[in-house]
Amino acid sequence: MPNQRCRSTTSGRDEVIQDTITSILSITMEHSPFYSVRPLLPVYPEPDNLTASKKRWILIRDNSVIYLKKEGSGTVIIEDPRPSGLISGEPVYLGIRDEIIYYAGELSSDTPLPGDWNLSPVRELSGLIPDTEMAIASYAVRILDNDRSTAFCGRCGAKTHPLTTERGRICRACNRIFYPRISPAIIVLIKKGEEILLARSPRFPSGFFSILAGFNEPGENLEQTVHREVFEEVGISVQNIRYFGSEPWPFPDSLMVGFVADYAGGEIRIDDVEIIEAGWFSRDNLPSYPQKTSISHTLIKAWINREV
Ligand SMILES: [Zn+2]
Repeated sequence: MPNQRCRSTTSGRDEVIQDTITSILSITMEHSPFYSVRPLLPVYPEPDNLTASKKRWILIRDNSVIYLKKEGSGTVIIEDPRPSGLISGEPVYLGIRDEIIYYAGELSSDTPLPGDWNLSPVRELSGLIPDTEMAIASYAVRILDNDRSTAFCGRCGAKTHPLTTERGRICRACNRIFYPRISPAIIVLIKKGEEILLARSPRFPSGFFSILAGFNEPGENLEQTVHREVFEEVGISVQNIRYFGSEPWPFPDSLMVGFVADYAGGEIRIDDVEIIEAGWFSRDNLPSYPQKTSISHTLIKAWINREV
């Protein structure tokens, strides 16, 4: 009997473990983030033995990138090994892809653009250049912006220098290291029976809705951020928060962490500041929602397909 009871307990535990694994597998998707820069590998130390013909450039002015419009799909990749006279300051190493080393360069403010190249805000290039180039260009803008912001030490004011072992800058006067800032934010699909909650920010065009999102604050874990943001923005409570997937969002430095949660109680009460309209929507009355480049789109599509 003791053995049987023991087996029974073990079996029960195994079932619980199996149920948990099944539950996790059913909700956690291998999300393919649009703005991931893999396989642009940040190999350190920066290779110095590659020939000039294996270097490529992305040139940036503020948050804009120069690109060449082409029939079909344009490009932001410059093959000139060293675009002489075009950049100010030192080239910024981005990483390696297919044995080609990529750099970003700050375009001098008074330099005329070469040939048929144009300057465009990076976000407006989506669809005009290949998706991989879009991810690399957004990354380049983000890294250059970070380098500008940390060019001088925030503690002692001395000039900082790139680390040679990883992405970051160091102040040699006080040894403080500045890594690129990453701002975690949650994004959550809230289910209530056969409906989901969608909301409209004042930034959205009329008729356009998305799921709720908000930044993590110091002292919170991500689940607490979900509870707080949902309550602040629409006045309801949620339960059964499950991880879905994540993606980098380089405008300028977010890591979006996606969750699914169930409605737990309360009536929708919008704050009229961050949210100006919110409601429950079924699959047959969905409004316009974000395009394929974002995890909000993936979450909503997964729900439409009954995958979450
Ligand atoms: Zn310092």
